[in-house]
Amino acid sequence: MTLKNYIFKNLWLQVVLSLIIGLCVGLILGDDVGVGLDDDSLDSLSSYLKIPANIFLSVILMIIVPLIFASIVVAIANLGAKEKLKTLGLGIGVYFVITTTIAILIAITLASIIAPGSILDLTALQESHDLSEEDLKVTEGFSLDDIPEVVSNIIPRNPIVSYLEGQMFSILIMALIVGLSMAALPKDSVKPLLDLLESIQKITLYILLMAMKIVPFAVFGLIVGMVATVGIGTMVGLGVYMVTVVLGLGAMLLVYAMFIKFVAKRSFSSTFSKFRNPQTLAFSTASSMATMPMTLKTAEDDLKLDPRVSKFVIPLGTTVNMDGTALYQVIAVFFLAQLFAIELSMLSILVIIVTSLLASIGTPAVPGAGTIVLSTILITVGIPPVGILLLLSVDRILDMIRTMVNVTGDLTASCVFDKITRD
Ligand code: ASP
Repeated sequence: MTLKNYIFKNLWLQVVLSLIIGLCVGLILGDDVGVGLDDDSLDSLSSYLKIPANIFLSVILMIIVPLIFASIVVAIANLGAKEKLKTLGLGIGVYFVITTTIAILIAITLASIIAPGSILDLTALQESHDLSEEDLKVTEGFSLDDIPEVVSNIIPRNPIVSYLEGQMFSILIMALIVGLSMAALPKDSVKPLLDLLESIQKITLYILLMAMKIVPFAVFGLIVGMVATVGIGTMVGLGVYMVTVVLGLGAMLLVYAMFIKFVAKRSFSSTFSKFRNPQTLAFSTASSMATMPMTLKTAEDDLKLDPRVSKFVIPLGTTVNMDGTALYQVIAVFFLAQLFAIELSMLSILVIIVTSLLASIGTPAVPGAGTIVLSTILITVGIPPVGILLLLSVDRILDMIRTMVNVTGDLTASCVFDKITRD
């Protein structure tokens, strides 16, 4: 195979090349080492460069709702036997909670040892981000008031609205109810809908494969904009915080490696090397939702997992299992608490554990969502949510890495449950 063919065949290589070229162009355009284009020109250039990324995201958003719904319903309906479903459903729920809790504990340990927020000077940041004293006021946190409303609204009353607004969690619940009902009914009566949903699945996956061709351009555009506008200075300022998050995410990858070796009983290196395509896509799109069709394809074609397991675990995991996001959110909370000199009591830490577990379940699997949901956790422990502004400048890069971890977590879960159900 010639080098050209090799590059054309491997998406991850195309993305890595785009990243490197984008980084160089971004540095040339920015004012750290390059020509220092003025802000207006940079803004308009970035909006043009973002076109491929926006197109890719629109295609994903166009197909994702029917794809998620069809995948889960088809998987449950095909799983059939009620007992098997119960064990699998319960097992996956417990597994997701365990891995997310491990992620949160890693985050707490690292954030306490490294203490990234104690190194930074709040006043300097306050000036550079133009924040007033009012913005930085620490408030009383922790309210349980929202819980009844959230629980009451778990079942979508109007499925059409959930569809139109892309409320993934509601769609997931609906798919579970429809799938379970279909599994309980005789095969003949559900066959027409099952066939239709299977064909929807195939069509949406095909659309995705086509859209994948623009990913390298999307990555190039995003990276140029980011490097040129954010600048190396800001990145270095928040460097220790970033390193803490990256270390935590690295540790989480090691945890997955253990699960693969000791629970799924697979060779860790050959399994991880098969994760490469979805990981690259997750890294470039910063959306596990956008990556989901590729994750499914890898699970079935490369890892040769039982499709009934992967079609159930992956859409579910994409929506509710975000270990990377939970880990990042907890480190961010600790970082801001240290920065604002807020002492975290044992109770606050417990509240952080529970809310970040729930928040990571509720975070939509789209770019930047983890940071927006972070404000809920901050309010709960009384940290000024405006602190998020400080994190935003470097968020994209962390989002790329944590999304990669989220997707790796879903693939690992599929390998584990493939093994368990086979046994
Ligand atoms: N971008 C992440 C994902 O799609 C969610 C987040 O922002 O943490 O998995």
